[in-house]
Order: sequence, then C-alpha cells, then structure tokens
Amino acid sequence: MFTVSRSIDIDAGHRVPFHASKCRHLHGHRWKVIAIAEAEETVDSAEGAADSGMVVDFGVLKQVLMEEINDVFDHRFLLWQEDPLAEILLRAGTAESIPPAAFLESEEVTGPNLARQDLEESIVVVPVIPTAEELARYWAGLVAPRLRELSGDRVSLKRLDVWETPNSCASYELAWEPRL
Ligand SMILES: [Zn+2]
Repeated sequence: MFTVSRSIDIDAGHRVPFHASKCRHLHGHRWKVIAIAEAEETVDSAEGAADSGMVVDFGVLKQVLMEEINDVFDHRFLLWQEDPLAEILLRAGTAESIPPAAFLESEEVTGPNLARQDLEESIVVVPVIPTAEELARYWAGLVAPRLRELSGDRVSLKRLDVWETPNSCASYELAWEPRL
C-alpha cells in the first residue's frame, strides 16, 4: 500500500462555545490541513499516462483541498449551527436585527447593504462544533468523495490531519474499505 500527502494552509476564525477558557472567544488560526491518500498500486505506465508511476498527482490532491476547503473556508469565520452567535450575526442588518449589531446598518460605516452581504460571505455555518477534531472529520467527508471521483475510484483518502496551531493536531482516519 502506498500513501501520499499534500497540505494547504488557510486562515480562519472560530470559537468553541462550551469551552471553559479562552477558546470560547472569537479568535482565529492559521490551519494546516493535510490530506493523506492511499492506493494499492501506482498508475501503470502501459498507457503512458502523465501520472504513470504515481499514486495520484500531487496537483490533484491540491486541487481537491483547494476546492473543498480553501475556497469555502479561507478567510472566513466558522460557527457551529447551534451557536447562538450564528443567528445573531446573520440577522444583523435585517429587519430582525438586534442591537448591538444594528450599527452595521449605518450608511456612515459601510453602506446599507454591504454589511449584511459582508456578514453572509464572512460566516460559514458548519454542522459541527468547530474544534480541530470535528473539522477533521467534517472536512474529510468533503475531500474523500471528490478524491475518489477525480481518481476514477482508484485512490482513497486515508486520513485528514488538521493542525490548529504548530503544536496541536487532530486527525480523522477513514475506515478501510476493501476494494472488490
Ligand atoms: Zn481556536
């Protein structure tokens, strides 16, 4: 069995709402996301394909990470769908807006509609508490099917690592599926 891996770095904010200490505050990280892919064999050279001798072109791994993670989450703020802050922020600038977010409607600050649009583009509501562990599982679920699709079902995502800081990493390992 071969494995290959590719990493990307993204900047994103989050908060961990039940955390007893400072992780419940709004803050951000430079996240390093590493996809580890596996295949039983490299691409056969018989047909002279560009990726002959490779598990998968590193460019393909990068493409999947960029499309599924970078393009959606980079320079955004990740909030759990059950986090009350998500509703408060997304209602800002609407008829239901509640103070103190109402200041965002001020034309002097940003223009009447820009603030709302900015908020909608800035916040990504995710179905999990955005800890490194849960993001690893959530992002693995986005990356795995796309990698399979682009590799013609030949390459699987084995694991996804999410480094929240240079010292702290969580991983999600996918169950091994026998290929028939
Ligand atoms: Zn954090």
